[in-house]
Amino acid sequence: MQGYEIRVRGQVQGVGFRPFIWRLAQERGLSGHVLNDPEGVLIRVAGALDGLAEAISAEAPPLARVDAVEVSGFVFAAPPEGFAIVASQGAGAETRVTPDAATCPECLAEIRGDGRRRHYAFTNCTHCGPRFTILRALPYDRAQTTMAPFEMCDACRAEYEDPADRRFHAQPIACPDCGPRVWLEVEGAERPAEAVGAVLQAGGIVAVKGLGGFHLACDATNPEAVALLRARKRRPAKPFALMGEIETIRLYAEVSEFEESLLRDSSAPVVLLDKAGVALPEAVAPGQDSLGWMLPYTPLHHLLLREWVRGTDGTGAPLVMTSGNLSGEPQVIGNEEAREKLSGFADAFLMHDREIARRLDDSVMRAEPPMVLRRARGQMPGTLPLPEGFEAAPQVVGYGGQMKSAICLIKNGQALLGHHLGELDEALTWEAFEQADADYAALFDHRPEVVAVDLHPEFRASRHGAERAARERLRLVEVQHHHAHLAACMAENGWPLGGGKVAGIILDGLGLGPDGTVWGGELLLGDYRGFERRAWLKPAPLIGGDRAQAEPWRNALVRLDATGLSDWADALFPEAPRDLARQAAAKGINAPMSSSAGRLFDAVAACLGLCPMRQSYEGEAAMRLEALAGRRAAEPYPFTISAGEIDPAPMFAALRADLGTGADPGQCAARFQQGLAAVFAQRAADLVQTGAAQAVALSGGCYQNAQLLRATQAALDALPVLTHKTTPANDGGLALGQAIIAAAQSESD
Ligand SMILES: [Zn+2]
Ligand SMILES: [Zn+2]
Repeated sequence: MQGYEIRVRGQVQGVGFRPFIWRLAQERGLSGHVLNDPEGVLIRVAGALDGLAEAISAEAPPLARVDAVEVSGFVFAAPPEGFAIVASQGAGAETRVTPDAATCPECLAEIRGDGRRRHYAFTNCTHCGPRFTILRALPYDRAQTTMAPFEMCDACRAEYEDPADRRFHAQPIACPDCGPRVWLEVEGAERPAEAVGAVLQAGGIVAVKGLGGFHLACDATNPEAVALLRARKRRPAKPFALMGEIETIRLYAEVSEFEESLLRDSSAPVVLLDKAGVALPEAVAPGQDSLGWMLPYTPLHHLLLREWVRGTDGTGAPLVMTSGNLSGEPQVIGNEEAREKLSGFADAFLMHDREIARRLDDSVMRAEPPMVLRRARGQMPGTLPLPEGFEAAPQVVGYGGQMKSAICLIKNGQALLGHHLGELDEALTWEAFEQADADYAALFDHRPEVVAVDLHPEFRASRHGAERAARERLRLVEVQHHHAHLAACMAENGWPLGGGKVAGIILDGLGLGPDGTVWGGELLLGDYRGFERRAWLKPAPLIGGDRAQAEPWRNALVRLDATGLSDWADALFPEAPRDLARQAAAKGINAPMSSSAGRLFDAVAACLGLCPMRQSYEGEAAMRLEALAGRRAAEPYPFTISAGEIDPAPMFAALRADLGTGADPGQCAARFQQGLAAVFAQRAADLVQTGAAQAVALSGGCYQNAQLLRATQAALDALPVLTHKTTPANDGGLALGQAIIAAAQSESD
């Protein structure tokens, strides 16, 4: 019997796709079947299609992403009876697992309604709920998740088995009769979950077990509570993330339509929003002009905000929701671990008995200009198609850098950039790195032929990669840090392997250059296979090595001395050990030369009085400088350039002159950012206009600064510009660049 076969590719497994096809077939009275296989979803129907192929793309379920619908002829041996959902075929290791997704509107309505899931904290369906964070192993089914210990009740089983039900094959399906439960723990005693409201309203701090880890929560409108949390966490200034319902967020922030769409994305990221309206205590995010907000993304969070912490006016209070961890360590995920580690911070624990299999921090994004600052919960395990020319790329693993570590796997023309892990110096983060390495390899049945690492031999990730390559006789490719940033930006934008050279403005923290000095403010001209350094910030010594990163005055001192402004440095930093620092710089003792743009930001921030003696967290000085500048339009400060070397001395001279005449420090900060953007943009534009480069790419950690990004884009005007939108511009995106460079270099052999 004649019929059709329809192949659907994309994110189409574990998202309710087969019942969706079943429903479309029922509506059209079609007979045939649907199944999952390693390539996606396969549909076979007898007779006519009756618009089925079009409906698949147009009406796909919320969490699905349809990349292709391919129709071909098919001959049935015997006419099929009815339409069946057939068991998966040949799935195995290729079975996709989708990211965790925020509670859908239907489930939210059930939680607030009168049905059997009223006020149930673990309600979910095929359109929402936990996925990757509860997954222990593939294939993704209940027995392989942390839902395994909960035996489905008859009512849940009936929903699970009914193709017409929203919960058909929803692996974490649960209800109050059979699923996980939530409780409050105060001094070891169990109390009803609702009691959490009283603790928070009294200014207490509560450890809340979420989807990818524990948060520490407090009432964000209560200055004493926020101060208490800062004191207990010994975290003086790093901004806290906030959670609130959309109506609540609007009281404190400006939310554009696009920002609202980001907040409402199924990944429910933290979105940086400009402060507006009612002010929250300054201690929530000292020195910042924006706040990181997220919507409640699990039923537990919805209940917490709407039912348990109801404010006097009937709306829930906004809550601080900061990562529950010991300083420097990754987020806590286990109940026992939480009791052990967080009892010094929290007055109570909002606990539940569904285990978290995978630690995932909240993802962080900015809408304007669009950028992802941290890729984690809700975005894992997302893949990115490799650009044209990489179809035959070998399997590669890239191990990333030292800070903001993340791993990247390349396989079958796709890149999987793993979740944010953190700084590898910390023992538990290192453990998480090793676990992620083994874990992603197992999940994606990955067997690399090539290992890519940073050029820096002392990075733990580099050593790990080199050891693995030696042990397993794999090819090792060492990639220069800023070349990796350039390639990551090109790859994210789908720049083809044969697309020609790109001018990369890479403004970053620190990365080892092939000349043995530390780079970080570069204009590179290159492609996936190689690069040249066309311009760079004039190097300055990092006095005290690592201490130069923590203490901005050290960077200001060397720049001011080089500008002939030593007297100003003496006046600005009277308490700093300037003589020792100058001796170290003169003798070159523990003072490696660096062209880092990040350290130049620190130097300028110190001159403006922004945490000159010490930063309490990485990037504080630069973030405060960005906030101080705001969105001012400003005349750029001058830089000089000679033989490729960009000298900031005239900028410092102008800065001093401005401050000497009482100029607004915010204006000075803006003029610095404009000047830095302008001088690099000019040189990059030259490369495009002379035909040496086909486009300009903007990458490196400094490009998380929205003002710097805007200023550079404006200066490049009508030229083609590549920027980071879905992978981080900072070292979180490094592994992608390493992996694709290694793939390109392996192809050319
Ligand atoms: Zn749902
Ligand atoms: Zn049940």
